[in-house]
Amino acid sequence: SFPSLSSPSAAAPEIQTPLGSERIINLDHGDPTMYEQYWKPMGDKTTIVIPGWQSMSYFSDVKNLCWFMEPEFAKQIVRLHNVVGNAVTEGRHIVVGTGSSQLYLAALYALSPQDSSNPINVVSAAPYYSSYPLMTDCVKSGLHKWAGDATVFNKDEPYIELVTSPNNPDGFVRHSVVNRTGGILVHDLAYYWPQYTPISTPADNDLSLFTVSKSTGHAGLRIGWALVKDVEVAKRMIKFIELNTIGVSKDSQLRAAKVLEVVSDSCEQAGGLEYAESFFHFSHALMTERWRLLREAVKRSGLFSLPNFSSAHCSFFDNNLGTQPAFAWLKCDRDDVDDCESFLRGHKILTRGGKHFGVGPKYVRISMLDREETYNLFIERLSQIRL
Ligand code: PMP
Repeated sequence: SFPSLSSPSAAAPEIQTPLGSERIINLDHGDPTMYEQYWKPMGDKTTIVIPGWQSMSYFSDVKNLCWFMEPEFAKQIVRLHNVVGNAVTEGRHIVVGTGSSQLYLAALYALSPQDSSNPINVVSAAPYYSSYPLMTDCVKSGLHKWAGDATVFNKDEPYIELVTSPNNPDGFVRHSVVNRTGGILVHDLAYYWPQYTPISTPADNDLSLFTVSKSTGHAGLRIGWALVKDVEVAKRMIKFIELNTIGVSKDSQLRAAKVLEVVSDSCEQAGGLEYAESFFHFSHALMTERWRLLREAVKRSGLFSLPNFSSAHCSFFDNNLGTQPAFAWLKCDRDDVDDCESFLRGHKILTRGGKHFGVGPKYVRISMLDREETYNLFIERLSQIRL
């Protein structure tokens, strides 16, 4: 989730660079380092050993449509969705990708009409995930083009609508907004996990995207998956990945499979809200506490506001629960502050401003998934801001 296609390593040193007496707090990216806190004490539970002669072939499973997908990875995906209840896997083709980012591009390739003289419109309701416009138009494809905010899309032309639910940046549950016959939907469900939002029903879409980046926190594995109903669409996505990277790292798939296995084990052994051992219980509790601290700090400052969410029944925890998104969508309420991103930068807090998400500069997106130390520093700094 980078605002430009420049290397993230260029920004990384800033995180530690002191400026004046205070450290810069970089909450621009959604880097999920918070989850180290769960995985560190797990020790060797997720360690795998891969001898040098293993994972050498390009091929993982020649009998599978997705021939570069490790069978163990596919097995653990199905198991986890069944344990969590957040997606229907029956009658779906699983396609593994180098992050859900690669699958997003594969989906656009697969869903764009091949014989049209004009690129298909790609839309999403603002505020939308800031990478969509950049990724859609990155290679100035003749197949598809970014057409902006879905809520104002009124062209009488074919379109692909991206439905991100819960949404990045604002955390709300979403449904398609264009609702025209022939519209093609892609559901980005990167955050449809119990620590962020109540699980209402198993997602049953034509094409859903998931990622380990935001579910278990293993963004560095670069592993995502798509659940695809139509076999021809799945085949074209697989073709895209073949042309793009000739498959997906087997080592990463095997690590991901192990991590997912441990997550499912933790849920089956614990079950429900009462036990601290389940991965989702742990991460849910952590998010609850972070949102409590944030709302308190925002209230104290009197300068900002946050979205409010109604609670809903979560089938996973079997409880009525609130929403605690991976990002805080903060609005600066003061008339004399036009640009919230610059304002916070002045206080050495780096965030991503509203314009990246197709809205105005009064809003910023703040990552809620950084390490404890950084998060606490952020809360402390935010509480002290006065005009
Ligand atoms: N979709 C959304 C909505 C996201 O927020 C992100 C990560 N910022 C992605 C996709 C990309 O995830 P991945 O690391 O799997 O490429």
